[in-house]
Amino acid sequence: GLAERLQETLTKIRGKGKVSEQDVKDMMREVRLALLEADVNFKVVKKFIADVKEKALGQEVMKSLTPGQQVIKVVNEELTSLMGGEQSKIAVAPKAPTVVMMVGLQGAGKTTTTAKLANHLRKKHNRNPLLVAADIYRPAAIKQLETLGKQLNMPVFSLGDQVSPIEIAKQAIAKAKEDHHDYVLIDTAGRLHIDETLMAELQGVKDIAKPDEILLVVDAMTGQDAVNVAESFNEQLDVTGVVLTKLDGDTRGGAALSVKAVTNTPIKFAGMGEKIDQLEPFHPDRMASRILGMGDVLSLIEKAQSNVDEEKARELEKKMRTMDFTFDDFLEQLDQVRNMGPLDEILGMMPGFNKAKGMKDLQVDDKQINKVEAIVRSMTKQEKKDPSLMNASRRRRIAKGSGTTIQDVNRLLKQFEDMKKMMKQMTGMTSGKGKKRGKG
Ligand code: GDP
Ligand code: MG
Repeated sequence: GLAERLQETLTKIRGKGKVSEQDVKDMMREVRLALLEADVNFKVVKKFIADVKEKALGQEVMKSLTPGQQVIKVVNEELTSLMGGEQSKIAVAPKAPTVVMMVGLQGAGKTTTTAKLANHLRKKHNRNPLLVAADIYRPAAIKQLETLGKQLNMPVFSLGDQVSPIEIAKQAIAKAKEDHHDYVLIDTAGRLHIDETLMAELQGVKDIAKPDEILLVVDAMTGQDAVNVAESFNEQLDVTGVVLTKLDGDTRGGAALSVKAVTNTPIKFAGMGEKIDQLEPFHPDRMASRILGMGDVLSLIEKAQSNVDEEKARELEKKMRTMDFTFDDFLEQLDQVRNMGPLDEILGMMPGFNKAKGMKDLQVDDKQINKVEAIVRSMTKQEKKDPSLMNASRRRRIAKGSGTTIQDVNRLLKQFEDMKKMMKQMTGMTSGKGKKRGKG
């Protein structure tokens, strides 16, 4: 995935104070490949890369983020906004019933989604929808919707397959008003390919039903084809929203990005399986992470941003550079880590960490942190400042005072030294350039 690829580039630019043009170029090349691999339309990719480059270049690097993380953040934000930014809700007519027309190619998932949507509206919005079987062409299409309706214990309006879809729509809406349904969901016919007869008929249904929402149902597995389909349907019918189905497959969701970019129509729902409750409101930010394949790197970045005090971070960095970092700073650091949440959760979100074999040996749990804190709190002021003071008798005293063992104390002292070394590397200080002080 992109995450692994970016790692290499990230390592190179970690610790730099400013994101250079070359850094952005390097990262963008990886992002570009990943997007194309995820089946994003190449025109969309091109524009996207240009936008991100412009935004990422020359940005002042936030102290709590590495330049690499910052570029990822820009990439993610742009992806999210490309897919609509905010989560987009289904229409509600000022006067009931709200009429929703489902359109799309055959097999895209219209009938299934109609039932899923009815279920969603009832469960989440306390609505009372009427399902309408207006696909008179596909054998057993009416039966399919009726079966789903039975399963949901919801009424399905049908007039058989000898009445035109336009007439069905007309009568269905009248019936919905009569029976006080607040939503009318019209399942229409699709074809294997877009053709004029289909479009003309859908136009006719649209004219009579005056839908508040025309949802284009698109199969996410069809990749690039989805874009062409979306474009034609949109040209003919002015769709108001997209439902992306079969996102439970192994597609990376690039189609989502393209469909939104090309039609400028928000994706409102995502189909996540064949079952009736497997429809979810579409969240652009989550899809962005999925396309980037970065799992929770982004939530980690968010956590870091909201929790690490900028000023303190700057101070700390200065201390680490001069190797003045003491156990007091360490305690403060522990508090910050605690504020971010359980340590193993934080580490689990870091790229590479979750897969690292060493993860188990680290035994990072809150109990462990408490132990560490107890040890540090048992040190004297001098000891906290200068761990080299710690001889055997001091170590024994500390172990006793903290209710731990000498081994625990030794381990912590060793880890503290290791950590100092690691932090020094992380702040990008080149080693052995005369910045060391004290005993070294
Ligand atoms: P229509 O021709 O557009 O009405 O498509 P259908 O609703 O009949 O669905 C076609 C096939 O896709 C059926 O086998 C559905 O179970 C399946 N399907 C629909 N939505 C999803 C989804 O979100 N995930 C998966 N895995 N299958 C789906
Ligand atoms: Mg159907």
